Amino acid sequence: MQSAPSVLRAQNLPSASVRRSAASRHPERPSTAFDVLITADHEEADPVHSPSDSLGHELARPGLSWSGTVDYGPGPLHAPTSVAELRLLVGRSRRIRALGTRHSFSEIAASDADLVTLAHLPADLEVDIAARTVRVAAGVRYGELALAAAEHGLALANMGSLPHISVGGASATGTHGSGDGKRSLSSSVRAVDLVTAGGDLLSLSRDEDPEIFDGAVLALGALGIVTHLTLDLMPAAPMRQTVHLDFPSESMTSEGLLTMLAGGTSVSLFHHWDGRIDQAWVKQVVGRDGELPEQWLGGRRSRRPVHPLPGLPADFCTDQTGEPGPAHERLPHFRLEFTPSNGEEIQSEYFVAREDLAAALAAVMPLGERIRPLLHASEIRTVAADELWLSPAYRRDSACVHFTWKQLPEQVTALLPEIEERLAPFAPRPHWGKVFTLDPEQVRVQFPRLADFLTLRERLDPGRVFTNAYVDRLLGE
Ligand SMILES: Cc1cc2nc3c(=O)[nH]c(=O)nc-3n(C[C@H](O)[C@H](O)[C@H](O)COP(=O)(O)OP(=O)(O)OC[C@H]3O[C@@H](n4cnc5c(N)ncnc54)[C@H](O)[C@@H]3O)c2cc1C
Repeated sequence: MQSAPSVLRAQNLPSASVRRSAASRHPERPSTAFDVLITADHEEADPVHSPSDSLGHELARPGLSWSGTVDYGPGPLHAPTSVAELRLLVGRSRRIRALGTRHSFSEIAASDADLVTLAHLPADLEVDIAARTVRVAAGVRYGELALAAAEHGLALANMGSLPHISVGGASATGTHGSGDGKRSLSSSVRAVDLVTAGGDLLSLSRDEDPEIFDGAVLALGALGIVTHLTLDLMPAAPMRQTVHLDFPSESMTSEGLLTMLAGGTSVSLFHHWDGRIDQAWVKQVVGRDGELPEQWLGGRRSRRPVHPLPGLPADFCTDQTGEPGPAHERLPHFRLEFTPSNGEEIQSEYFVAREDLAAALAAVMPLGERIRPLLHASEIRTVAADELWLSPAYRRDSACVHFTWKQLPEQVTALLPEIEERLAPFAPRPHWGKVFTLDPEQVRVQFPRLADFLTLRERLDPGRVFTNAYVDRLLGE
């Protein structure tokens, strides 16, 4: 049983508005049915566990990741239906982690103790048209959020490749899309409500808590269970997407890469470590970005829709014809209403300084012959610098070197150290939700605000209710 923590006081958390529940103050809490353990009956109703969930991917029970490669542990998995239930659950839990939509490939969400899904909480989607913000429950998927915003003529600044990922999970890990001027999705968050140790509900905002807010959004689930987030929106503008194919080898020079990546609001380049770019997916704002010619930088416009992974049908991909459409139907690579991608994969991704991109790729290129047999495809994207303490793009305009691997975990983890060694001169920062084998020390030195984050965690979670082996290893405990 947790006692109410003394850290959650206004004097300890400047400007934080702290609301306490009666339950969190009482040492003895009645045993109620609030914490719905996953039972046979409950599983029937749980969208996360349904065999026919929107990903069309069967998830083994009680807990495997979307890819099936991460076992979240023995559980139990709780599924509260209200914030009040969640607070009671957290208040009496010795250790607990949240699960989002389970799209991470690392063990970031795994736990040997309690797990909780917020999939049964109401979506609570509230668009504020005047303020251009949306408040939403953490378990809501980006695609649903974007649809609600679009109904009011508003849009998210950016989206990841997949619209099926939860806002809470993506924000916790720094999930990103692409775009020289586009920051991580977590950067759009302007307020969070989280249940902290003992079951307290803490509200933090960018405006009222500037000293700590940048440490509290992208927090790897280590500060508490986020119940709601408020995100910035922008006026919706129609977008178009086109794909160009088969670029010459000059495409891999620094100038070639940076020119391609600047070809639209959001650009993704796909390649197979053979010294050239196979596909450039260019997403442009209609009326602002100049339409690309049929032949562009040596690549030719694709006349048929393509999937980024060779051999897969493009039916699930977003429109590539150049037809204008809403941003949420052009920015992601995959359509919300269809199975998005092959689950038989593993992903790794490293952020380097944008100006180092070509050199970083050249350093890894000699491993191409060993990478290719394990690889579906590699993607290159850009992310603008942000201020979030644990963001892989912290104060560094970044390029992301991404691998979608075949599901060969042993071979992949055997090769990663060699890739990481070659990337080492470029100070790589890993994507927290993807697989890497970097030494934790090597990771820690890449995050100059880590000490501040650890101080914040000490104040919010001195008993380490929200930790797990992944967080302990990487943060150094
Ligand atoms: C097909 C595919 C495509 C992808 N595309 C991209 C992409 O374009 N860009 C990119 O950057 N990444 C991408 N990813 C990776 C993915 O976006 C991240 O791993 C993301 O964190 C997954 O979110 P999730 O909701 O599945 O969270 P989970 O994987 O379930 O959890 C991730 C972390 O978030 C924490 N968490 C979840 N919910 C909460 C909460 N309410 N409160 C506190 N902590 C919480 C968990 O404890 C865990 O630590 C992709 C993954 C897949 C499978």
